[in-house]
Order: sequence, then structure tokens, then C-alpha cells
Amino acid sequence: MNDSPAFIVTGAGRGIGRAITHRLVQDGLRVLAIDLNADDLAATRQSSADASTVATLVLDVTTDAAPDLAIQAVLAQWGRFDGLVNNAGIGHTKALHLTEDDDYDRFMDVLMRAVFRFSRAAVRAFGDQGGCVVQIASIFGLLGSPGASAYSAAKAGVIGLTRQMAVDYGPRGIRVNAVAPGVIATPMTQDRIDHSERFKRVMIDTTPFPRIGTPEDIAGAVSFLCSASAAFVNGHVLVVDGGWSATNYVPE
Ligand code: NAP
Repeated sequence: MNDSPAFIVTGAGRGIGRAITHRLVQDGLRVLAIDLNADDLAATRQSSADASTVATLVLDVTTDAAPDLAIQAVLAQWGRFDGLVNNAGIGHTKALHLTEDDDYDRFMDVLMRAVFRFSRAAVRAFGDQGGCVVQIASIFGLLGSPGASAYSAAKAGVIGLTRQMAVDYGPRGIRVNAVAPGVIATPMTQDRIDHSERFKRVMIDTTPFPRIGTPEDIAGAVSFLCSASAAFVNGHVLVVDGGWSATNYVPE
């Protein structure tokens, strides 16, 4: 019988969440993959190395019942719950003076409130058995970026929550870390990568690396943080950005 660890991955229908699901399955874990879109989830499951170790749940992570429904589903499906990857996200934020309350609330709901509430449900469910949480933050939670007001604020909040959870729950054997991606080619960013000259100048030309990041680059970092190799890594923010935040790089 397969009794390997069982993880929840949110936003698993495409982009980084799909790659994380695939990688965790390759690592021998079982995954409850959550997303808004049933077709995308089915595609994630079918394209994984072992579809029998991926369960899917269509769920809006911002709804009040979502965290408890997710925990119930992972326990019902796999009989155990060992880890959570809070990945679901939205992009295309605006500068502060252009951001209305509705926009602010939407970014905070998805990127901060849902992460807070899923994290809370996870630490309650882990009990004293230990566990692992990985938050997908952003380099924009560490550094400013033109026009990224609500997004940056939410991601900075997630990084603060990561460190705070590490302090509060490390003593119970629960490790909490974050990954802070740079520019990763996904449906969220592809349009800007292809068509925004400003985005190219600010984010891509200034990265001292010969290619753009891929979802698999982030999945590799998540895999490490969820593995026994990271058994003593707690409260860490792992930047995966090709060196963008290491320097004020100007190409030759
Ligand atoms: P993506 O391609 O847009 O994928 C995001 C996924 O999250 C989509 O499948 C989306 O579902 C799902 N989602 C959004 N709102 C949801 C909700 N309320 N409930 C459930 N699922 C929801 O974006 P990505 O680039 O893979 O981003 C993944 C994470 O990485 C995000 O947290 C993002 O902020 C972070 N990140 C990305 C980059 C980058 O360059 N791509 C850089 C830094 C950080 P639908 O498709 O059905 O809407």
C-alpha cells in the first residue's frame, strides 16, 4: 500500500503550481491539487508521472470554507496530511494611486488572506506530528518594482508570515519556508514577457543569466524545501531569480 506523504498544492491547474505538482509526484509524494479550473486540473493530473498519486479538487481558495474543505479532502483521499504549498495567485497589479479598494481587496484575498487561512488550517491539522509549509512569495515581496503596490504588499506579508510561523511552529517540528521567484514564464507573465518593452528592460535584460526562469526552476526549489535534505531549513526565503536581485546588472 502507498503510504507516502500527502501534500496540498493550491493553484495547481497551470504554471508554477502544475510544475510543483509534477515534481512532488516525481519525488514520490501524493498530491491534492487545487484550482479554480476543472479542465486545467485534469490536465495537470493526466500529464503527471503517476496520475494515480494526484487527486484534484476544484476550489476557490478565498472562500471561507476552503481551508477546511481542502484538509478534509486530502485526509479522505490519502489518509494523511504532511505538507502544504500555498501557490495560487493572481498578477497584473497597479501603482498605489491607481489601485481602488476592490483591486486591493482582491489581491489581499488571494495572495495574503487565503495563504494565512490555509496555513492556519494546516498547522491545526498537523498537530504534533510535524509538517511542512512552503509559501510561494515573490522577489517583489523583498524589493520594490514599478507599479506593483498591492501585489508587493501581499507578498511581503507572506514573507513575514513565513518567518513568524517558523518561530511559532518550528518547536513542533513544522518547517515553514518561502520561495521568492523572479520572472518565470507562465500564463501570468507570458504576455508581458512577449509584448512589454518596459518589462523586458526592467526584469529580463537586468537578469545576469542567459534565459528566463521556468516553472520547473521553482518546482525544484519547492522539492528541496519539502525534502529530508532541508530537514533543518526553517523560516528561510529561497530566492530563485537567476541573480536579478543580487546585483544592479546592466548587460554589455
Ligand atoms: P498562473 O499561471 O496565473 O497560475 C496561477 C494559478 O492559480 C491558476 O491556475 C489560477 O487558476 C490559480 N488561482 C488563482 N486564483 C485562485 C483561487 N482564488 N483559488 C484557486 N486557484 C486560484 O500564475 P503563476 O505564474 O504560475 O503563479 C503561481 C504563483 O507564483 C503565484 O502566487 C504568483 O504570485 C507567484 N509568482 C509568479 C511569478 C512569475 O513570474 N510567474 C513570479 C513571482 C511569484 P485559474 O487559471 O483558473 O484562474
